[in-house]
Amino acid sequence: MIYLLIFVFGLIMGSFYMVVGIRLPLKKSIIKPRSHCEKCNHYLKWYELIPVISFVLQKGKCNNCHQKISKFYPLCELLCGLLFLLNYIIFGFSFKFLTSILISSLMIIIFISDFKYYIILDSPILIASILYLILEFIFLDIKTTILSFCSGVTMFVIMILIMLLGNLIFKRESLGGGDIKLSFFIGMVLVPRLSLISLIFASFFALIYACIFLQIKKESEIPYGPFLMIGFYITFLLSPYLLMFLDSI
Ligand SMILES: [Zn+2]
Repeated sequence: MIYLLIFVFGLIMGSFYMVVGIRLPLKKSIIKPRSHCEKCNHYLKWYELIPVISFVLQKGKCNNCHQKISKFYPLCELLCGLLFLLNYIIFGFSFKFLTSILISSLMIIIFISDFKYYIILDSPILIASILYLILEFIFLDIKTTILSFCSGVTMFVIMILIMLLGNLIFKRESLGGGDIKLSFFIGMVLVPRLSLISLIFASFFALIYACIFLQIKKESEIPYGPFLMIGFYITFLLSPYLLMFLDSI
């Protein structure tokens, strides 16, 4: 029963993050106007707003204009539900579970906005950072909270140095401001050694993506934020093993 509740909660939050990720980059309010069909502006009724289920019942089409609804919506909601469930299975109800929920939520919002508009929003990073510090203060202690904040600042400075170096070598903007702000959050949650490992994971995945998609799409830039988040999330999940490995070498 609790698994189902967590999964459904994830679906609902996923649906909300979809609105945040799509509307905020366009400077639109996330409250008004109400959710509507992108093609005919038909306002959605409550039974058309149920995550995933409405999409399946309506066979992926708008009830009013019968045009196709993007599969992106239910997929994002489903991903969010599954991530929440996975976090609960791994961590149970604990500080780590709440942290992993924060990371997954930020990851989904960044997936949406960075892939869709090449934008990483400031406000979700800021909210996630503040919530994380509050969680640490409640579950751990004030000393750890301050240390995490300093660790975030260190990571932020390291990324600025990497950006300056990158700009110098490639003679163009190498990292976006959003990537650097994101690294502040990553630095806060992970210890410095693991933050650097998460950067290596991120670069590895971004490289694979670039090799495949730059060939197909012929574009010259790729969003880096989603890969930073994937590297971060994987490092967070594997952190006990990675620390053990680092200590052994
Ligand atoms: Zn419609």
